[in-house]
Amino acid sequence: MLAKQRILVVGSGISGLSFVLALLKQCEADGVAPPSVTIVEQHAEPVNDESNERANYSIGIRGDIGGVQALESLGVLAEAQRLACDDRGFFVGSVWRDGQWHQDVMLERSERRPEARGLRISRVKLRALLLRSLPSHVQVRWRTRLTGVALVRDDTTSPATVHVSAQLSRSDDHDDSDGTTSEEAFELVVAADGCRSTARSLVFGEQPQYALRFTNSAGIAGCAHFADANDVPAIARTCHGVLFGTKGRSLFLAHESPTRVMWALSYPTEQPRPRDVDSDQAREALLQEARVCGAEQPALMAQLLDATPASSMRSISMFDKMPHASALDNRLVFIGDSTHPVSPYGGSGANMALVDGVHLGSAVAQLGRQHATIEAAVKAFDAEMVPRAERICSQQRMMLTLSHTTKWWQLRARSMMLTCLAYPRTALTAASGLALATVVGLAAGAYYLYNNADSLTFGGSAPEPTL
Ligand SMILES: Cc1cc2nc3c(=O)[nH]c(=O)nc-3n(C[C@H](O)[C@H](O)[C@H](O)COP(=O)(O)OP(=O)(O)OC[C@H]3O[C@@H](n4cnc5c(N)ncnc54)[C@H](O)[C@@H]3O)c2cc1C
Repeated sequence: MLAKQRILVVGSGISGLSFVLALLKQCEADGVAPPSVTIVEQHAEPVNDESNERANYSIGIRGDIGGVQALESLGVLAEAQRLACDDRGFFVGSVWRDGQWHQDVMLERSERRPEARGLRISRVKLRALLLRSLPSHVQVRWRTRLTGVALVRDDTTSPATVHVSAQLSRSDDHDDSDGTTSEEAFELVVAADGCRSTARSLVFGEQPQYALRFTNSAGIAGCAHFADANDVPAIARTCHGVLFGTKGRSLFLAHESPTRVMWALSYPTEQPRPRDVDSDQAREALLQEARVCGAEQPALMAQLLDATPASSMRSISMFDKMPHASALDNRLVFIGDSTHPVSPYGGSGANMALVDGVHLGSAVAQLGRQHATIEAAVKAFDAEMVPRAERICSQQRMMLTLSHTTKWWQLRARSMMLTCLAYPRTALTAASGLALATVVGLAAGAYYLYNNADSLTFGGSAPEPTL
């Protein structure tokens, strides 16, 4: 049954590739013939992508939201760890302790739970690893875009047959205009085409609940290259993390190699930034803007900016969207950024993309066993994905608000939260103390009431005052 299905995957990013790998791996494990899989990618096959500084940022794969486990189930964790940056953990800065703001609070990666240890890896390397892991019979059709999609039902057959007709346009190798266009039929289309998903706009148009939402946050990012490892600012020498400012700005730093540090300043704003202009002058202006924007950390920013080539500069406007379920009678399913894009500062988009890919892959592979139809498999995936992604998107929105706050009570709440993270034992002792005090207080109150019950009046009207 599964072998007769034709599946189209739109996009060869992290979510699309992990779906294909999970599906084929599961079929192999179950000893069933796999479905026919077609992957289309609008861009050309990547060649030497690592030299493109603006696209080659590192991403954090986390154990707490399933990214590490997803890589493990795809069978690529060991290779990803080998390719990962030498990153020993996560720090947070600006924690309120002993009456003053502290920096350099380090959360070492737990050695006790190696399975949950995260890793930082270049996005380009991770995607290349997933591409390399595809079996040779699965080819990506490069420079091929999805340009149209429709559900086709044929009621003249018994039972009625249903398929999705996809319009695919292949562009010329030397120019981006659409060259040849074909109409092809599939039983399932997987939209893994990123935050500005074509599939999403083709089926939902301009409906507001499917539109991207500006998070009122933007950022400026770059990559500092130091001549010597000893020149790297101490805070970013072996780890990654965030310095939270008190004036609404925060600075993310990630150690990517002994001499390379990625940095990103973020700040609150009413309007998204204009699209970056691709010129030396515009990038130089971005560098200068970062100097002003990072004024709360003048020495650190000067160190970073002096080592940052203008060519690595980019600006980021942060959009997100709550997840939505599949369309076209469960024959068009959305995974990764196409359904739940989140701000890059939360460090969870790629993790969610991996988890989606793995879960959808194993749901579809169970066709004929646990799920009777493709629609049932997609429904089961949506029922798990939507609440999971909603929870993470809401957490990301809260973190973004706390990152950029200037309100004193939010600053206090943030510092308490970070202190608990950084000093879990102290927080646990304080919480236990508070709980014990509450229990003792309640017990003492109950004892008092018990012993004085006769002399106490509850309810009823108050006694008349004696004049
Ligand atoms: C600066 C930055 C830092 C980040 N850091 C982190 C981090 O630390 N941790 C983390 O978890 N996440 C991070 N993210 C987010 C993460 O990169 C994304 O969430 C993840 O790449 C989403 O994967 P995806 O496969 O869903 O989409 P994408 O990676 O966007 O892939 C979509 C693919 O579809 C193709 N496509 C689009 N339209 C069509 C079409 N019509 N036809 C054919 N192909 C099409 C695109 O070309 C692309 O290859 C970061 C993002 C940025 C920008």
